[in-house]
Amino acid sequence: MHSPLRPLITATVVAVLLTAAVGGISIWRVYDNNRLVSFSYDIKDALDSLLSAITDAETGQRGFLITGDPQYLEPYDRGTARVHAALDHLASLATKDSLRPQDIAELRPLIDQKLQELAETVQARRSEGFDAAQRIVRTNVGRATMDRIRAIVTEMDRDEDAVLSTRHGQSLGSFQTAVIAEAVVAVSAIVLLVFLANVSRRRHAEAAARERITLRLAAIVESSQDAMVAKDLNGTITDWNAAAERLYGYTADEAIGQSVRIVVPPDRQHEEDEVLEKLRRGETIRQLETVRMAKDGRLIEVSLTISPITTSTGEIIGASKIARDLTPLRLYATDLEQKVRERTADLQAVNAKLEAFAFSVAHDLRAPLRGMHGLAQALLEDYGARLDATGRDYAQRIVDEATSMDTLINDLLAYGRLSHVDLAVSAVDLGDVLDKSAYAVRDDIQSSGAHLDIDSSLPVVQGNPSVLIQVFANLLSNAVKFGGDRPRVRVWAEMRGPQIAHVWVEDQGIGIAPEHQERIFGVFERLHGAETYPGTGIGLAIVKKGIERLGGRVGVESQVGHGSRFWIELPRAEAA
Ligand code: ADP
Repeated sequence: MHSPLRPLITATVVAVLLTAAVGGISIWRVYDNNRLVSFSYDIKDALDSLLSAITDAETGQRGFLITGDPQYLEPYDRGTARVHAALDHLASLATKDSLRPQDIAELRPLIDQKLQELAETVQARRSEGFDAAQRIVRTNVGRATMDRIRAIVTEMDRDEDAVLSTRHGQSLGSFQTAVIAEAVVAVSAIVLLVFLANVSRRRHAEAAARERITLRLAAIVESSQDAMVAKDLNGTITDWNAAAERLYGYTADEAIGQSVRIVVPPDRQHEEDEVLEKLRRGETIRQLETVRMAKDGRLIEVSLTISPITTSTGEIIGASKIARDLTPLRLYATDLEQKVRERTADLQAVNAKLEAFAFSVAHDLRAPLRGMHGLAQALLEDYGARLDATGRDYAQRIVDEATSMDTLINDLLAYGRLSHVDLAVSAVDLGDVLDKSAYAVRDDIQSSGAHLDIDSSLPVVQGNPSVLIQVFANLLSNAVKFGGDRPRVRVWAEMRGPQIAHVWVEDQGIGIAPEHQERIFGVFERLHGAETYPGTGIGLAIVKKGIERLGGRVGVESQVGHGSRFWIELPRAEAA
């Protein structure tokens, strides 16, 4: 039975028993009182028969005295004979009940005296005649004695009536108590029975619901694709589902009752000790990737989730273990990795081919382009006077287009070279690099009226001087180009620990929206048309590729309208 109900039921049963006991005692009292009542009636009868015996004797005596007829002696003799028996009977009752012994003690001599008086008068009438007997009667002694006897007997009878009335009252009280107690018992018993019937009905319903859940759970466990095993806190297997049979090769009959260590490889037995220790502390072990051993000795990679099994009172009685076979997952992952490797290699090869092709095309384009540029220039210089204005304009446009195409080809070649060429890395003083970079973009600086503020204590880094000059030339050129009117460009460095130099190139120009900040480092990624800001879209791609080839990182922090801060991170080197 469910524990919270037990005290309630115990209390009800005790109350019912107590009430039943009270009822029983009351019934017993009724019975006892009835016995005493009948006893009182016995006493009253005894008093009655004593008085009637004396009265009979006296009546017989009177008849004889008056008539002298011996027939009257017969009631007299009967009466006197009954008197003593009645008195003895009364005395015997007096020992057990309410009668006072002193009343009997007083009665006895009076009765003797009365019988004496009766005997004397009878004797006198018989031997001396009526007058002699009359003389004795006239003394009034007999009447006084009889009066006294009657008074005592009446008094005793009245006392017994009082006792009788008390006993009747007690009987009634006990009877009422018994009736009430038994009624309470009956009602309590009925309530208890109804309650127990309800509880039992609910229990049955709960048990049936539990059984349904158990069956459903059992079906789920049995049909699960993961191995499910239950064990007690000593590690003895108590449940073993079909998937466990498939995974480990032991049937449920073989496994249940055995130690769970049968599936733990010898070199991992310590794991089971740790698991049991954790379970005893109520901890759950989630996705423990480990190795287990099948019946045939085959090792299986599994992911285990082990949870304590607790009773409704919180006591830990065992553990449930779900084992997922990682083999298919591992095979799939290996297969996937292999595929990714192959595809990457393919892509890299295609990319390299494309880059090589672009590089050679760019390279091959350079010579005819220079030729076109030179000839157009010559046309302007040598035949300019003979051309009209439109002719000169066309020739000038050929020169300009050839120049910008040359820049694009140069940039592409520079970018391509960064991919192919082996870069020698040495300690490079960034101060020197910045001087050279600024010199490379001096025309842009001059034409825009930009002001460059380059920190004089830039660090020495691990790098390649010509790559770094290209990188900073691009960053400075952009800072000047996108830096607004009379650009102000600042370059400085921070040390990130002893190993890393973090160099900033900051302008106060147009800024870059957050959604573009990553893509601008790609080839040909431009945010503006060539009419607004001329350029090839390769500068930042060169920066990124160059820095990454030197083992560094590059990025930008910017807000539209509030300038940009490009940064590069490179390993530091000892000053040369
Ligand atoms: P280019 O400068 O030749 O256009 P880049 O690769 O150097 O090519 O730059 C790519 C794009 O990134 C630029 O077209 C420009 O839109 C943006 N950008 C680069 N630097 C800055 C800067 N300092 N401020 C704002 N925008 C910039």
